[in-house]
Amino acid sequence: RDQVSGSGIYGFGKTGGRVPVGIGRRRLRIVVTGGAGFVGSHLVDKLIERGDDVIVIDNFFTGRKDNLVHHLGNPRFELIRHDVVEPILLEVDQIYHLACPASPVHYKYNPVKTIKTNVMGTLNMLGLAKRIGARFLLTSTSEVYGDPLEHPQKETYWGNVNPIGERSCYDEGKRTAETLTMDYHRGAEVEVRIARIFNTYGPRMCLDDGRVVSNFVAQAIRKQPLTVYGDGKQTRSFQYVSDLVNGLVALMEGEHVGPFNLGNPGEFTMMELAQVVKETIDPSATIEFRPNTADDPHKRKPDISKAKSLLNWEPKISLREGLPLMVSDFQKRILNEDEGKGY
Ligand code: NAD
Ligand code: UDP
Ligand code: UDP
Repeated sequence: RDQVSGSGIYGFGKTGGRVPVGIGRRRLRIVVTGGAGFVGSHLVDKLIERGDDVIVIDNFFTGRKDNLVHHLGNPRFELIRHDVVEPILLEVDQIYHLACPASPVHYKYNPVKTIKTNVMGTLNMLGLAKRIGARFLLTSTSEVYGDPLEHPQKETYWGNVNPIGERSCYDEGKRTAETLTMDYHRGAEVEVRIARIFNTYGPRMCLDDGRVVSNFVAQAIRKQPLTVYGDGKQTRSFQYVSDLVNGLVALMEGEHVGPFNLGNPGEFTMMELAQVVKETIDPSATIEFRPNTADDPHKRKPDISKAKSLLNWEPKISLREGLPLMVSDFQKRILNEDEGKGY
């Protein structure tokens, strides 16, 4: 295998014995499931940039080739159209398992498929990790805390989740994925890492994915009213995507299983978010209230002290700094759409 210089590169072989070796380290082969999606494609950028080989597995349900087009033709990059619900044979050092729709609109579209992706997809990737001795990272979610009765949420909180609601395919699917991950760790000695990701935003989010940041930004650009669901007093904590990607890599390369909350502790009501979007894009934008969705969590804010102390990680980009960074990407894509060249 080729030598590469730079930081963050580890030797090939059983991941358990791998230690950082500095300049002249061997490059890794890494699978990113869901790598054509929003978070996955930014993670792929980082891994390719630091010199690793990356294989993306994606069924393109919510992902797009456009997110990875700049890597096509690079011999260190491979894109496989594959559904993680089906088994697959590969030889790799690390598996970042992201495949799963993240927006409520997308994961509710076919709830049984969402559960299959979370359970059978995660099982297959853990089976793969076990067979080849690869390190496995699960991207779980703050949704495992449900409508939390503890605030802010620490990793020790077990959550308040409705098992039979419209969001359950995702919440309970991810909870089962976490269980599987820990059972493979304890029972089959697979090296695992668990990230509980809080709401993340940035360039390449689907324009139509229904999440609040992408909705508000697209609406403000299109000169449409910002749709606030319910009374707009519910809160979320919004993390810029590069902070998340740094956290995922720190987690994969660190020595701790987790789970770790990866999120930005800045907490905003949806009305406050609408205000920041107005200030950033169009101060004359108006607000339109709509009925809220079922089982919508009232508040969400990560306690990130565990990630700070054990991973030496914390987010760097505030909402006011991060929002403008996604606006030009959205403007460009909305313009293309208007010109009939939409994706
Ligand atoms: P996304 O929808 O943009 O990306 C998901 C990717 O997985 C897409 O490319 C999609 O095509 C692919 N995929 C879905 N089902 C698949 C299947 N069965 N087989 C193969 N590929 C499949 O979502 P995202 O925001 O990039 O989220 C990535 C991961 O992070 C998800 O696991 C999500 O649950 C988790 N997460 C994200 C957030 C967030 O705010 N973005 C928050 C919490 C957790
Ligand atoms: N699996 C896979 N690729 C591999 C190894 C396993 O997709 O390289 C799948 C396998 O088909 C199974 C799952 O992972 O559905 C769990 O595998 P494991 O070996 O843990 O369990 P078993 O096959 O004994 O049920
Ligand atoms: N929301 C909103 N307007 C929208 C879309 C969402 O007010 O156009 C609200 C939604 O009801 C929820 C919050 O924003 O309270 C976050 O929703 P999102 O779908 O982004 O993420 P999640 O519910 O998974 O945290």
